[in-house]
Amino acid sequence: MENSAEQLFEDSAIRRALRDALLESRSGTKQPIEQGGFIVRDASTLRPVVRRLSAGLADSFQIPLCPDGQFRGEQILGSFHTHPNTGPEWQEEPSRQDIRLVTEYPETIGPWHFVIGPVRTYCIGNDGTVKVLGVTDDVLQIDSEDQS
Ligand SMILES: [Zn+2]
Repeated sequence: MENSAEQLFEDSAIRRALRDALLESRSGTKQPIEQGGFIVRDASTLRPVVRRLSAGLADSFQIPLCPDGQFRGEQILGSFHTHPNTGPEWQEEPSRQDIRLVTEYPETIGPWHFVIGPVRTYCIGNDGTVKVLGVTDDVLQIDSEDQS
């Protein structure tokens, strides 16, 4: 069963994990670093959970290919990375490479790939369609929940 993009964000544990990833991206600092990972179905609880990958670079993020649609034995429900770079020379929107990755490797990416910026959160579908999920503070419910 496939979760809709919005459904994945209804889970507070998912939102918390994505907030952590954004926080650890050090957006707006001199040393931003892209973070990301997979949203998988936990093999024992069957709930969606975030599995983080090692940090990327200041302006790129690597996702290991998972041609069987599984990451370490768990079904991939989606994937994400952050875009922490701000300033006039950067675009927060998904890059052309991001979109190409999603369309060319749907098994690895899962049905949705989220690009989380400090201002907006974007969703890329397997057909390459990019939509704005919303303002990141709203999507991840930053401020309205206990951050601890
Ligand atoms: Zn990107």
